[in-house]
Amino acid sequence: MENYIKTQKTLTDKKRFTLTPNLSSPFISPDTIIHIGEIAKKYGGVLKLGSNQKISIINLKEDCLKEISKELQLDLVPKSKSLLTNITLCTSNFCRMSKYPTIGIYMKLVKKFYKMELPAKTKIGISSCKNSCNSAYTKDIGIVVDKDGKFFITMGGRAGTNPKAGYTIASGLNENQTILILKTAITYYKTNANNKEKLRDFIDRIGLDSFIETCVR
Ligand code: SF4
Repeated sequence: MENYIKTQKTLTDKKRFTLTPNLSSPFISPDTIIHIGEIAKKYGGVLKLGSNQKISIINLKEDCLKEISKELQLDLVPKSKSLLTNITLCTSNFCRMSKYPTIGIYMKLVKKFYKMELPAKTKIGISSCKNSCNSAYTKDIGIVVDKDGKFFITMGGRAGTNPKAGYTIASGLNENQTILILKTAITYYKTNANNKEKLRDFIDRIGLDSFIETCVR
């Protein structure tokens, strides 16, 4: 349970905590939202929508955390920064601009990589067109659908105080080719990066050409 309770950084000295249900998909049934909302209301929590497309219950007191997690009956997102839990998707199949229904590849990536331990915090963003509404270009890994309905992959993007777009490492891909390259690249990064080394820093250290040569075959 401790692995799932985040201590909130507040402006006061009151101790408050956060629990985040793992919703598995950015498309959530109204019943699930109502369920989470009712529990938050019962225990005086506040709902916060995160850029990770998850709904956290924040402002919780310590003594009710066990009860809440029991009542939620949902998986919780672990707090460890080295576990890959941030995989986001744009409006995808529900958007008129969509060039490819990316919900399928999203679910496959969640199944394959969710909670994988990596050297540093890693985010994946999937966008169904080059507009990239969920900022896939500045995620550690971006998967974007081009005008022709084919995927291209960017890696090494970052937001924060020193934002950078990721390098394009492969293009003109179908779904299976995309997953294969991701599997190779993530395994390569996991096995060879230094502790806490971000994907961008890893690519820059070993050289972009060498990284592409290893991961794209
Ligand atoms: S990235 Fe494209 S398909 Fe996805 S929500 Fe934005 S405009 Fe729509």
